[in-house]
Amino acid sequence: MKKTIDQSDMKTPALFKLEDQANDYQWNEQESIKEQLASKLQTNSAFELVGGAMHYDWGKLGSESLATQLMPDAAIDQTKPYAELWMGVHPNQPSRVKFGNGEWLSDVLMKNRALLGNYTFERWGTLPFLLKVLSIAKPLSIQIHPDKMWAKRLHSQAPNHYPDDNHKPEIAMPLTTLEMLYGLEKQDAWKNILSKYPPLSKYCSKIGYTPSVILPDLLSLPENEENKLLEDLYTYLQKKQNVEAKEKLFLSLYPQYPNDLGLLFIFFMRFLTVEPGNTIFIQTNHLHSYLSGDLVECMANSDNAIRAGITSKYKDVKQLLSELSYDDHAPQLSSGIVDSQYVTRFPTDAEEFEMQEIKLPKNRSLLQGKHPVPSILLTLSGQGKISSNHGNLMIKKGSAVFVGANHSYGISASDDLRVIRASVPFPEDQ
Ligand SMILES: [Zn+2]
Repeated sequence: MKKTIDQSDMKTPALFKLEDQANDYQWNEQESIKEQLASKLQTNSAFELVGGAMHYDWGKLGSESLATQLMPDAAIDQTKPYAELWMGVHPNQPSRVKFGNGEWLSDVLMKNRALLGNYTFERWGTLPFLLKVLSIAKPLSIQIHPDKMWAKRLHSQAPNHYPDDNHKPEIAMPLTTLEMLYGLEKQDAWKNILSKYPPLSKYCSKIGYTPSVILPDLLSLPENEENKLLEDLYTYLQKKQNVEAKEKLFLSLYPQYPNDLGLLFIFFMRFLTVEPGNTIFIQTNHLHSYLSGDLVECMANSDNAIRAGITSKYKDVKQLLSELSYDDHAPQLSSGIVDSQYVTRFPTDAEEFEMQEIKLPKNRSLLQGKHPVPSILLTLSGQGKISSNHGNLMIKKGSAVFVGANHSYGISASDDLRVIRASVPFPEDQ
Protein backbone atom coordinates (compact mmCIF):
# COMPACT_ATOMS: atom_id res chain seq x y z
CA MET A 1 0.00 0.00 0.00
CA LYS A 2 1.55 3.27 -1.11
CA LYS A 3 1.20 6.10 1.33
CA THR A 4 2.96 9.26 0.27
CA ILE A 5 2.07 12.87 0.73
CA ASP A 6 3.43 16.02 -0.77
CA GLN A 7 2.75 18.29 2.12
CA SER A 8 5.19 17.37 4.81
CA ASP A 9 4.59 20.04 7.42
CA MET A 10 2.03 17.96 9.26
CA LYS A 11 3.43 18.73 12.64
CA THR A 12 2.67 22.43 12.58
CA PRO A 13 -0.36 22.37 14.81
CA ALA A 14 -1.36 25.94 14.01
CA LEU A 15 -2.41 24.63 10.62
CA PHE A 16 -5.64 23.66 12.24
CA LYS A 17 -6.86 27.12 13.01
CA LEU A 18 -9.48 26.95 15.65
CA GLU A 19 -9.26 30.65 16.32
CA ASP A 20 -10.79 30.76 19.75
CA GLN A 21 -8.64 28.04 21.17
CA ALA A 22 -5.40 28.63 19.34
CA ASN A 23 -4.83 31.79 21.32
CA ASP A 24 -5.24 30.04 24.63
CA TYR A 25 -2.44 27.57 24.18
CA GLN A 26 1.29 27.77 23.64
CA TRP A 27 1.35 25.31 20.79
CA ASN A 28 5.05 24.72 20.58
CA GLU A 29 5.79 24.38 24.26
CA GLN A 30 3.07 22.48 25.98
CA GLU A 31 3.16 19.05 24.47
CA SER A 32 0.45 17.55 26.69
CA ILE A 33 -2.05 20.31 26.04
CA LYS A 34 -1.31 19.94 22.36
CA GLU A 35 -2.15 16.27 22.54
CA GLN A 36 -5.29 16.91 24.54
CA LEU A 37 -6.39 19.47 22.03
CA ALA A 38 -5.58 17.15 19.16
CA SER A 39 -7.78 14.42 20.56
CA LYS A 40 -10.51 16.95 21.22
CA LEU A 41 -10.30 18.19 17.64
CA GLN A 42 -10.52 14.65 16.44
CA THR A 43 -13.92 14.24 17.99
CA ASN A 44 -14.97 17.54 16.50
CA SER A 45 -16.71 17.27 13.24
CA ALA A 46 -14.88 19.62 10.91
CA PHE A 47 -11.17 19.60 10.21
CA GLU A 48 -8.77 20.30 7.39
CA LEU A 49 -7.34 17.61 5.13
CA VAL A 50 -4.03 17.34 3.36
CA GLY A 51 -4.57 15.87 -0.09
CA GLY A 52 -1.81 14.35 -2.18
CA ALA A 53 -0.74 14.88 -5.77
CA MET A 54 -0.46 12.34 -8.58
CA HIS A 55 2.32 13.05 -11.04
CA TYR A 56 0.95 11.41 -14.20
CA ASP A 57 2.79 12.62 -17.29
CA TRP A 58 -0.27 14.36 -18.77
CA GLY A 59 -0.46 16.88 -15.92
CA LYS A 60 0.53 20.53 -16.04
CA LEU A 61 4.00 21.26 -14.69
CA GLY A 62 4.79 22.65 -11.24
CA SER A 63 2.94 25.79 -10.26
CA GLU A 64 1.23 25.94 -13.68
CA SER A 65 -1.02 23.17 -12.43
CA LEU A 66 -4.29 23.97 -10.70
CA ALA A 67 -3.55 21.01 -8.43
CA THR A 68 -0.50 22.74 -6.95
CA GLN A 69 -2.34 26.07 -6.76
CA LEU A 70 -4.78 24.28 -4.48
CA MET A 71 -1.97 22.91 -2.27
CA PRO A 72 -0.95 26.17 -0.62
CA ASP A 73 1.38 24.64 1.99
CA ALA A 74 3.15 22.12 -0.23
CA ALA A 75 6.72 22.34 -1.52
CA ILE A 76 6.40 22.25 -5.30
CA ASP A 77 8.87 20.62 -7.66
CA GLN A 78 8.65 22.80 -10.78
CA THR A 79 10.05 20.04 -12.98
CA LYS A 80 7.27 17.56 -12.14
CA PRO A 81 3.80 17.29 -13.63
CA TYR A 82 1.01 17.68 -11.06
CA ALA A 83 -1.83 15.93 -12.84
CA GLU A 84 -4.22 15.33 -9.95
CA LEU A 85 -4.89 16.28 -6.35
CA TRP A 86 -6.78 13.63 -4.39
CA MET A 87 -8.96 14.06 -1.31
CA GLY A 88 -10.33 10.92 0.25
CA VAL A 89 -9.37 7.53 1.63
CA HIS A 90 -8.29 5.56 -1.44
CA PRO A 91 -5.10 3.62 -0.53
CA ASN A 92 -3.30 4.80 -3.69
CA GLN A 93 -3.22 8.36 -2.35
CA PRO A 94 -4.98 8.66 1.01
CA SER A 95 -5.46 12.06 2.64
CA ARG A 96 -4.14 12.98 6.04
CA VAL A 97 -5.84 15.17 8.62
CA LYS A 98 -4.25 18.49 9.48
CA PHE A 99 -4.17 18.12 13.24
CA GLY A 100 -2.36 16.09 15.86
CA ASN A 101 0.19 13.89 14.16
CA GLY A 102 -1.50 14.07 10.80
CA GLU A 103 -3.14 10.65 10.85
CA TRP A 104 -4.68 9.12 7.77
CA LEU A 105 -8.26 10.27 7.32
CA SER A 106 -9.24 6.61 6.95
CA ASP A 107 -7.88 5.86 10.46
CA VAL A 108 -9.65 8.87 11.97
CA LEU A 109 -12.92 7.69 10.41
CA MET A 110 -12.40 4.15 11.71
CA LYS A 111 -11.98 5.47 15.24
CA ASN A 112 -14.83 7.98 15.00
CA ARG A 113 -17.62 6.31 13.14
CA ALA A 114 -19.99 9.11 14.05
CA LEU A 115 -18.12 11.23 11.50
CA LEU A 116 -19.51 9.00 8.75
CA GLY A 117 -23.02 8.83 10.19
CA ASN A 118 -25.08 5.65 10.38
CA TYR A 119 -26.17 5.51 6.77
CA THR A 120 -22.68 5.87 5.27
CA PHE A 121 -21.06 3.62 7.84
CA GLU A 122 -23.57 0.82 7.41
CA ARG A 123 -23.58 1.07 3.63
CA TRP A 124 -19.83 1.41 2.96
CA GLY A 125 -17.90 1.39 6.24
CA THR A 126 -15.78 4.32 5.06
CA LEU A 127 -15.91 7.44 2.91
CA PRO A 128 -17.40 6.13 -0.36
CA PHE A 129 -16.28 8.95 -2.65
CA LEU A 130 -13.05 10.47 -3.85
CA LEU A 131 -12.75 14.15 -4.73
CA LYS A 132 -10.09 15.18 -7.24
CA VAL A 133 -8.74 18.19 -9.07
CA LEU A 134 -7.30 17.53 -12.54
CA SER A 135 -5.07 19.90 -14.49
CA ILE A 136 -4.48 18.64 -18.00
CA ALA A 137 -1.59 19.53 -20.33
CA LYS A 138 -1.89 16.52 -22.67
CA PRO A 139 -4.73 14.13 -23.53
CA LEU A 140 -5.42 11.35 -21.04
CA SER A 141 -5.73 7.78 -22.16
CA ILE A 142 -8.90 6.53 -23.83
CA GLN A 143 -10.41 4.46 -21.06
CA ILE A 144 -13.46 3.09 -19.37
CA HIS A 145 -14.25 2.53 -15.72
CA PRO A 146 -15.73 -0.82 -14.77
CA ASP A 147 -19.11 -1.54 -13.26
CA LYS A 148 -19.19 -3.46 -9.96
CA MET A 149 -19.24 -7.01 -11.32
CA TRP A 150 -16.47 -6.34 -13.78
CA ALA A 151 -14.35 -4.52 -11.18
CA LYS A 152 -14.57 -7.53 -8.86
CA ARG A 153 -13.45 -9.88 -11.62
CA LEU A 154 -10.62 -7.60 -12.78
CA HIS A 155 -9.31 -7.07 -9.28
CA SER A 156 -9.28 -10.76 -8.48
CA GLN A 157 -7.58 -11.63 -11.80
CA ALA A 158 -5.03 -8.79 -11.98
CA PRO A 159 -4.81 -6.75 -8.77
CA ASN A 160 -1.57 -5.17 -9.99
CA HIS A 161 -3.46 -3.45 -12.81
CA TYR A 162 -6.84 -3.05 -11.11
CA PRO A 163 -6.12 -1.90 -7.55
CA ASP A 164 -9.57 -2.29 -5.99
CA ASP A 165 -12.81 -4.17 -6.55
CA ASN A 166 -15.06 -1.15 -6.77
CA HIS A 167 -16.91 0.39 -9.70
CA LYS A 168 -16.09 3.94 -10.68
CA PRO A 169 -18.87 6.17 -11.93
CA GLU A 170 -17.65 9.78 -11.91
CA ILE A 171 -18.78 13.33 -12.46
CA ALA A 172 -16.59 16.03 -13.97
CA MET A 173 -17.06 19.75 -13.35
CA PRO A 174 -14.89 21.85 -15.64
CA LEU A 175 -13.34 25.01 -14.20
CA THR A 176 -12.02 26.02 -17.62
CA THR A 177 -13.29 24.84 -21.02
CA LEU A 178 -12.99 21.05 -21.01
CA GLU A 179 -12.37 19.26 -24.28
CA MET A 180 -12.99 15.56 -24.21
CA LEU A 181 -14.07 12.46 -26.05
CA TYR A 182 -17.06 10.69 -24.57
CA GLY A 183 -19.09 7.64 -25.52
CA LEU A 184 -19.78 6.46 -29.03
CA GLU A 185 -21.23 8.35 -31.95
CA LYS A 186 -24.83 7.52 -32.81
CA GLN A 187 -25.04 4.20 -34.53
CA ASP A 188 -26.58 5.61 -37.70
CA ALA A 189 -23.59 7.94 -38.13
CA TRP A 190 -21.07 5.10 -38.35
CA LYS A 191 -21.59 4.46 -42.05
CA ASN A 192 -20.77 8.09 -42.80
CA ILE A 193 -17.74 8.07 -40.57
CA LEU A 194 -16.38 5.00 -42.29
CA SER A 195 -17.01 6.16 -45.81
CA LYS A 196 -15.36 9.49 -45.00
CA TYR A 197 -11.97 7.86 -44.50
CA PRO A 198 -10.88 5.60 -47.38
CA PRO A 199 -8.26 3.71 -45.33
CA LEU A 200 -11.02 2.71 -42.89
CA SER A 201 -13.80 2.06 -45.38
CA LYS A 202 -11.52 -0.41 -47.12
CA TYR A 203 -11.83 -2.66 -44.06
CA CYS A 204 -15.38 -1.92 -43.15
CA SER A 205 -17.02 -2.57 -46.47
CA LYS A 206 -16.33 -6.21 -45.60
CA ILE A 207 -17.80 -6.17 -42.12
CA GLY A 208 -20.82 -3.91 -42.34
CA TYR A 209 -21.72 -1.02 -40.13
CA THR A 210 -22.60 -2.48 -36.78
CA PRO A 211 -20.45 -0.86 -34.06
CA SER A 212 -20.21 -4.02 -31.98
CA VAL A 213 -18.78 -5.82 -35.02
CA ILE A 214 -16.63 -3.01 -36.42
CA LEU A 215 -14.67 -2.21 -33.28
CA PRO A 216 -13.62 -5.76 -32.35
CA ASP A 217 -12.75 -6.43 -35.98
CA LEU A 218 -10.61 -3.36 -36.47
CA LEU A 219 -8.94 -3.83 -33.12
CA SER A 220 -7.91 -7.39 -33.80
CA LEU A 221 -6.12 -6.84 -37.11
CA PRO A 222 -2.67 -8.43 -37.45
CA GLU A 223 0.00 -6.04 -36.22
CA ASN A 224 1.41 -5.17 -39.65
CA GLU A 225 -2.06 -4.34 -40.98
CA GLU A 226 -2.81 -2.27 -37.88
CA ASN A 227 0.27 -0.14 -38.34
CA LYS A 228 -0.41 0.25 -42.05
CA LEU A 229 -3.99 1.37 -41.36
CA LEU A 230 -2.86 4.03 -38.91
CA GLU A 231 -0.13 5.21 -41.25
CA ASP A 232 -2.56 5.43 -44.18
CA LEU A 233 -5.02 7.41 -42.08
CA TYR A 234 -2.26 9.78 -41.02
CA THR A 235 -1.09 10.31 -44.61
CA TYR A 236 -4.66 10.81 -45.78
CA LEU A 237 -5.45 13.38 -43.08
CA GLN A 238 -2.20 15.25 -43.60
CA LYS A 239 -3.34 16.07 -47.11
CA LYS A 240 -6.93 16.89 -46.10
CA GLN A 241 -8.05 20.52 -46.17
CA ASN A 242 -10.09 21.93 -43.25
CA VAL A 243 -9.42 19.27 -40.69
CA GLU A 244 -12.09 18.77 -38.01
CA ALA A 245 -11.37 18.65 -34.26
CA LYS A 246 -11.11 14.85 -34.13
CA GLU A 247 -8.88 14.73 -37.21
CA LYS A 248 -6.63 17.39 -35.70
CA LEU A 249 -6.44 15.30 -32.54
CA PHE A 250 -5.44 12.20 -34.48
CA LEU A 251 -2.79 14.16 -36.41
CA SER A 252 -1.34 15.55 -33.18
CA LEU A 253 -1.25 12.18 -31.39
CA TYR A 254 -0.10 9.84 -34.17
CA PRO A 255 3.59 10.90 -34.18
CA GLN A 256 3.80 10.07 -30.46
CA TYR A 257 1.79 6.81 -30.70
CA PRO A 258 2.39 5.50 -34.25
CA ASN A 259 1.54 1.90 -33.31
CA ASP A 260 -1.35 2.58 -30.98
CA LEU A 261 -4.52 1.16 -32.46
CA GLY A 262 -6.48 2.84 -29.67
CA LEU A 263 -6.18 5.99 -31.79
CA LEU A 264 -8.95 4.57 -33.97
CA PHE A 265 -11.46 5.17 -31.19
CA ILE A 266 -11.11 8.91 -31.82
CA PHE A 267 -13.16 8.60 -35.01
CA PHE A 268 -16.02 6.72 -33.35
CA MET A 269 -16.30 8.71 -30.12
CA ARG A 270 -18.10 12.00 -29.57
CA PHE A 271 -15.92 15.10 -29.35
CA LEU A 272 -17.33 17.38 -26.64
CA THR A 273 -16.59 20.81 -25.33
CA VAL A 274 -17.99 21.25 -21.83
CA GLU A 275 -18.01 24.78 -20.46
CA PRO A 276 -17.74 25.77 -16.78
CA GLY A 277 -21.16 25.79 -15.13
CA ASN A 278 -21.95 22.33 -16.52
CA THR A 279 -21.04 18.87 -15.41
CA ILE A 280 -20.78 15.60 -17.27
CA PHE A 281 -21.53 12.24 -15.70
CA ILE A 282 -19.15 9.48 -16.77
CA GLN A 283 -21.09 6.22 -16.68
CA THR A 284 -19.30 2.96 -16.00
CA ASN A 285 -18.33 0.91 -19.07
CA HIS A 286 -18.47 4.06 -21.25
CA LEU A 287 -15.47 5.27 -23.23
CA HIS A 288 -13.97 8.63 -22.39
CA SER A 289 -10.81 10.66 -22.60
CA TYR A 290 -10.17 14.15 -21.25
CA LEU A 291 -8.10 16.20 -23.69
CA SER A 292 -7.54 19.60 -22.11
CA GLY A 293 -8.75 21.80 -19.28
CA ASP A 294 -8.86 22.04 -15.49
CA LEU A 295 -11.63 20.31 -13.62
CA VAL A 296 -12.98 18.99 -10.36
CA GLU A 297 -14.02 15.36 -10.36
CA CYS A 298 -15.93 13.27 -7.88
CA MET A 299 -16.22 9.52 -8.11
CA ALA A 300 -16.85 6.31 -6.24
CA ASN A 301 -13.80 5.38 -4.18
CA SER A 302 -11.90 3.50 -6.88
CA ASP A 303 -8.83 3.79 -9.08
CA ASN A 304 -9.84 1.29 -11.75
CA ALA A 305 -9.47 2.16 -15.43
CA ILE A 306 -9.31 -0.16 -18.41
CA ARG A 307 -7.26 1.64 -21.04
CA ALA A 308 -7.45 1.36 -24.80
CA GLY A 309 -4.86 3.81 -26.01
CA ILE A 310 -2.92 7.10 -25.92
CA THR A 311 -0.97 6.08 -22.86
CA SER A 312 2.27 4.64 -21.64
CA LYS A 313 0.32 2.95 -18.83
CA TYR A 314 -1.00 -0.60 -19.04
CA LYS A 315 -3.54 -1.17 -21.84
CA ASP A 316 -5.90 -4.04 -22.44
CA VAL A 317 -8.05 -3.50 -25.51
CA LYS A 318 -9.45 -7.04 -25.45
CA GLN A 319 -10.55 -6.65 -21.85
CA LEU A 320 -12.06 -3.26 -22.66
CA LEU A 321 -14.05 -4.61 -25.59
CA SER A 322 -15.40 -7.47 -23.48
CA GLU A 323 -17.67 -5.16 -21.48
CA LEU A 324 -17.69 -1.93 -23.49
CA SER A 325 -21.08 -0.25 -23.59
CA TYR A 326 -22.33 0.39 -27.13
CA ASP A 327 -24.92 2.77 -25.75
CA ASP A 328 -25.03 5.71 -28.16
CA HIS A 329 -27.26 8.06 -26.17
CA ALA A 330 -26.16 11.65 -25.70
CA PRO A 331 -23.95 12.15 -22.65
CA GLN A 332 -25.51 13.24 -19.36
CA LEU A 333 -24.64 16.92 -19.14
CA SER A 334 -26.16 19.05 -16.39
CA SER A 335 -26.17 22.67 -15.37
CA GLY A 336 -27.31 21.60 -11.92
CA ILE A 337 -30.29 22.31 -9.72
CA VAL A 338 -30.45 25.64 -7.93
CA ASP A 339 -30.84 24.69 -4.27
CA SER A 340 -30.74 28.22 -2.92
CA GLN A 341 -29.41 31.65 -3.80
CA TYR A 342 -25.80 30.58 -3.36
CA VAL A 343 -25.90 26.84 -3.87
CA THR A 344 -26.19 24.74 -7.04
CA ARG A 345 -26.43 20.98 -6.69
CA PHE A 346 -25.27 18.39 -9.22
CA PRO A 347 -26.88 15.07 -8.38
CA THR A 348 -26.01 11.94 -10.34
CA ASP A 349 -27.23 8.36 -10.65
CA ALA A 350 -24.40 7.26 -8.36
CA GLU A 351 -25.19 6.36 -4.76
CA GLU A 352 -21.75 7.36 -3.49
CA PHE A 353 -21.49 11.05 -4.35
CA GLU A 354 -23.02 14.31 -5.39
CA MET A 355 -21.47 17.73 -5.78
CA GLN A 356 -22.59 21.20 -4.88
CA GLU A 357 -21.08 24.49 -5.89
CA ILE A 358 -21.31 27.23 -3.29
CA LYS A 359 -20.71 30.78 -4.49
CA LEU A 360 -20.86 33.14 -1.54
CA PRO A 361 -20.32 36.87 -2.07
CA LYS A 362 -18.15 38.83 0.32
CA ASN A 363 -19.70 39.45 3.75
CA ARG A 364 -22.45 36.90 3.17
CA SER A 365 -22.94 33.76 5.14
CA LEU A 366 -24.77 30.51 4.75
CA LEU A 367 -26.04 28.12 7.37
CA GLN A 368 -25.77 24.40 6.71
CA GLY A 369 -28.17 22.49 8.90
CA LYS A 370 -27.37 18.99 10.16
CA HIS A 371 -26.81 16.59 7.32
CA PRO A 372 -26.75 12.85 8.09
CA VAL A 373 -23.79 12.22 5.76
CA PRO A 374 -20.14 13.34 5.60
CA SER A 375 -18.79 15.85 3.11
CA ILE A 376 -15.58 17.47 1.91
CA LEU A 377 -15.53 21.19 1.19
CA LEU A 378 -12.82 22.37 -1.18
CA THR A 379 -12.26 26.12 -1.47
CA LEU A 380 -11.43 27.07 -5.05
CA SER A 381 -11.11 30.80 -4.45
CA GLY A 382 -11.76 33.54 -1.92
CA GLN A 383 -11.53 33.51 1.86
CA GLY A 384 -13.79 32.98 4.80
CA LYS A 385 -14.51 30.65 7.64
CA ILE A 386 -16.49 27.62 8.63
CA SER A 387 -18.02 28.13 12.08
CA SER A 388 -19.75 25.88 14.50
CA ASN A 389 -20.07 25.63 18.23
CA HIS A 390 -16.62 23.97 18.18
CA GLY A 391 -14.95 27.13 16.87
CA ASN A 392 -13.95 28.71 13.61
CA LEU A 393 -11.94 27.16 10.84
CA MET A 394 -10.42 29.70 8.47
CA ILE A 395 -10.63 28.75 4.81
CA LYS A 396 -8.83 30.08 1.75
CA LYS A 397 -7.98 28.86 -1.77
CA GLY A 398 -6.95 25.22 -1.47
CA SER A 399 -8.48 24.52 1.95
CA ALA A 400 -10.06 21.08 1.99
CA VAL A 401 -12.28 20.57 5.01
CA PHE A 402 -13.86 17.32 6.06
CA VAL A 403 -17.24 17.85 7.72
CA GLY A 404 -18.64 14.93 9.66
CA ALA A 405 -22.23 13.73 9.54
CA ASN A 406 -24.85 15.50 11.65
CA HIS A 407 -22.73 18.58 12.11
CA SER A 408 -24.38 21.93 11.59
CA TYR A 409 -22.14 24.81 10.62
CA GLY A 410 -22.05 28.16 8.93
CA ILE A 411 -19.88 29.33 6.07
CA SER A 412 -19.08 33.01 5.82
CA ALA A 413 -17.12 34.88 3.20
CA SER A 414 -14.62 37.62 3.98
CA ASP A 415 -13.88 37.66 0.26
CA ASP A 416 -16.03 36.19 -2.56
CA LEU A 417 -15.92 32.46 -1.86
CA ARG A 418 -16.21 29.58 -4.29
CA VAL A 419 -16.44 26.20 -2.61
CA ILE A 420 -17.10 22.73 -3.99
CA ARG A 421 -18.91 20.45 -1.59
CA ALA A 422 -18.77 16.72 -2.28
CA SER A 423 -21.00 14.52 -0.19
CA VAL A 424 -22.94 11.30 -0.04
CA PRO A 425 -26.52 11.67 -1.35
CA PHE A 426 -28.88 10.73 1.45
CA PRO A 427 -31.77 8.66 0.10
CA GLU A 428 -34.49 10.62 1.94
CA ASP A 429 -33.39 13.74 0.09
CA GLN A 430 -34.32 12.26 -3.25
ZN1 LIG B 1 -11.88 8.36 -16.20
